[in-house]
Amino acid sequence: MVTRIEKITDETLEEAKKILFSGGVVAIPTETVYGLGGNAFDDDAVKHIFEIKGRPNDNPLIAHVHENYNLKKIIDYDPPYAKKLREAFLPGPLTLVYPSKGRVSPFVSCGLDTLAVRVPSHEGAQAFLRAVDIPVVAPSANLSRHVSPTSAEHVFDDFNGKIPLILDGGNCVGGIESTVCDVTGEVPVILRPGLVTREMIASVVGRCEVASAELKEGERAKSPGMLYKHYSPRCKTLLFPFDEADKARAAYFSEKEKGERAAVLCERSVAEKLCAEGIFVLDLGETEREMAARLYGLLREAEGVADVLIAIEPRKQDGVMAGVMNRLKKACSSRDIAH
Ligand code: AMP
Ligand code: MG
Repeated sequence: MVTRIEKITDETLEEAKKILFSGGVVAIPTETVYGLGGNAFDDDAVKHIFEIKGRPNDNPLIAHVHENYNLKKIIDYDPPYAKKLREAFLPGPLTLVYPSKGRVSPFVSCGLDTLAVRVPSHEGAQAFLRAVDIPVVAPSANLSRHVSPTSAEHVFDDFNGKIPLILDGGNCVGGIESTVCDVTGEVPVILRPGLVTREMIASVVGRCEVASAELKEGERAKSPGMLYKHYSPRCKTLLFPFDEADKARAAYFSEKEKGERAAVLCERSVAEKLCAEGIFVLDLGETEREMAARLYGLLREAEGVADVLIAIEPRKQDGVMAGVMNRLKKACSSRDIAH
């Protein structure tokens, strides 16, 4: 199969729609990362997405809908505080998990009785979702466990020959996946951190909890995707706390001595110092937003230029940076599944 990258026009939207309604998969841009879009009502299309990603079949997908889609078609109960969250943050990088009406394919939620729904703000994504007017599952358009894609080229690198069309909406401005927030209970619970932070949700609803990443014995994961090693570049990785830059520097020179190609990934303030010492640095940037937007592109760049990536955690780790830290830790973790 030939994989084409096309700018978003009326013609390519029409073509993407045809592919979707004939059971195929189209990569679409969103403001967070690129997604592999498929018809959420079509069992075979949903199964096909799991297959081509190599995604574990207990890791549910998010249904994407346009701004004016009638949620009542697919969700069973909508707590009043969820409406407030939608008004405050949607369209945007916030996924809400509702009790499902069971109308979409059962493969979407992997047997859970809930459904994760997101309304992306990216203009191209909105245009596509308006054109098809159905819920579209769109997990990140990377091979499972690989780094998520923030450009059409990243998608091409993972899926060349496996999907017919990538709609090119430019580089993703958000850069990390949406915040996933469970709204099935009395209080919103963040299952995956992202650009919409706990503080932002609490400021609208009054309260917001964060699900613990570690499971207690006998407990089933509320968001199974959080259990897997994710976002990993295809090179060795090491991660150092912000205040251990000296150790990172020593690790860099020790790798170089062994003849390895090494690179250090760190925020601008540290990058400037290390660069001055002749160290090969991948500069995450300065602001929170910049670091979120640049992280995945740099992790992918690292696998091309380094045998060993030595990452130094950013100084700030709360707010938006909680999401960045979550991804960075997973990218640099050697655990396959956290038990
Ligand atoms: P991705 O589409 O690759 O960004 O991953 C989707 C994320 O949403 C994963 O972490 C899933 O575990 C989570 N998710 C999707 N559906 C549900 C659901 N019904 N309940 C809880 N988490 C979900
Ligand atoms: Mg993903």
